[in-house]
Amino acid sequence: MFNKRIKIKELLAQEPASQEVTVMGWVRTFRNNQFIALNDGSTNNHLQVVLELGKFPEEILKRITTSASLRVQGIVEPSLGKGQKMDLKAVSIEILGDSDAEKYPLQPKKHSLEFLREKAHLRFRTNTFGAVFRVRHALAFAVHQFFNERGFIYLHTPIITASDAEGAGEMFRVTTLPMDGTAPKNEDGSINYKEDFFGRSTNLTVSGQLEGELGATAFGEIYTFGPTFRAENSNTARHLAEFWMIEPEMAFYDLEDNMNLAEAFIKYIIGYAMDHNAEDLHFLDQRLAEEEKQLPQDKRSEMGLLDKLKFVVDNQFERITYTEAIDILRESNHNKKKKFQYEITGWGMDLQSEHERYLVEKHFKKPVILSNYPAAIKAFYMRQNEDGKTVAAMDILAPGIGEIVGGSQREERMDRLTTRMKEMHIPEEELWWYLDTRRFGTVPHAGFGLGFERMVQFVTGMNNIRDVIAFPRTPGSADF
Ligand code: ATP
Ligand code: MN
Repeated sequence: MFNKRIKIKELLAQEPASQEVTVMGWVRTFRNNQFIALNDGSTNNHLQVVLELGKFPEEILKRITTSASLRVQGIVEPSLGKGQKMDLKAVSIEILGDSDAEKYPLQPKKHSLEFLREKAHLRFRTNTFGAVFRVRHALAFAVHQFFNERGFIYLHTPIITASDAEGAGEMFRVTTLPMDGTAPKNEDGSINYKEDFFGRSTNLTVSGQLEGELGATAFGEIYTFGPTFRAENSNTARHLAEFWMIEPEMAFYDLEDNMNLAEAFIKYIIGYAMDHNAEDLHFLDQRLAEEEKQLPQDKRSEMGLLDKLKFVVDNQFERITYTEAIDILRESNHNKKKKFQYEITGWGMDLQSEHERYLVEKHFKKPVILSNYPAAIKAFYMRQNEDGKTVAAMDILAPGIGEIVGGSQREERMDRLTTRMKEMHIPEEELWWYLDTRRFGTVPHAGFGLGFERMVQFVTGMNNIRDVIAFPRTPGSADF
């Protein structure tokens, strides 16, 4: 058997008592031909491996270079140095894989996040990305645990879809037809997708919601957690072309039930990461504090990362209606001094991210749930309120991120739903299967979508969404 090793995280949690162990990992640094900082990805804390001078041949020593992989067997002893509680006194060292120090792209120094994005295949081997991706894992695990504890069914909705009715965003087409102009055509010259692989035109999904509702109206409560795709050409720090979304759908929920669930969910997964990834979050807290030192005073966050997370977990989210939000924005000094790039034109306008961030960061200084938006700026499936102009929608806005959740109570009344679809030119024939849930035993129900990467951004304090997904897909970029 090859793999009889202890992970460094587990070892560092023990007391050093002359135990004999085998570790494996990658060299971060090697000083004075004596001290190896070894990392195996289980934690950001390196294990200090100590080599007795003269004990190991020169041929071995010169192969201990940055990012070389090693198997080290040795004895654990209390450290004489200050930085760590234990050393591993090496008895034997095996080089598993050499790493040419001249060619290895990541030097043992601080690199910019932009530089590391170009080296995304190796950036997991840095402290920052080690911490980010362990936290991402913890959050993903917590998502499943939260819903599982509550009896939700994890439903895998399709990635390839034929419906283009949802209107959540621009879509990527899926086709096997030739791109060289020889694809079969209709009489009017347009492409004949009846000849395509699925016998119709298909796309990558922008959301699993509509299929999710089919599950909710049988199981009661379901959630999806999978990749979604939007061909939106928005090169922002909050948009990806491929991102992961969590979409719970619940029968017998109204808008308030929906908000309660979303708030409890967000607090739960943040709390989980705080409990299970304290070291990583501490590291990221320090990283962010360092980074913010470079910013002018007024651009710095008022709270550190850990303080912010604790604050979010411990405090109720602010809940206001869209109409109240417009009033607050209109009356704000920020607006009166004409500091918004997009003017507050009044009721009915769509909120821009600068408006959302003003509400969250300047006015309330906490997460905000905005509800009851004008019907005209929301999707067809949202439940129509009795005022005849708003729908039972809710968005959750988070400090530093803006919109993190979008959801609503769904329109369960067939006549209201089809009337709205007609107004919005959405053909009923295409969504016959969706409408069947309203035909056969319809129920009040609700749901929301949480962009997973935005959540990871919020918890890790990373400014750019490209730095919280392993291999980001954005306009003009699909490396690795
Ligand atoms: P935005 O206004 O920020 O573009 P949206 O209104 O298009 O968001 P929804 O369609 O409601 O968003 O999607 C649900 C959630 O998915 C959003 O709240 C957000 O967290 C996330 N999200 C949406 N688009 C993207 C994207 N391109 N990349 C990453 N996450 C996204
Ligand atoms: Mn969008």
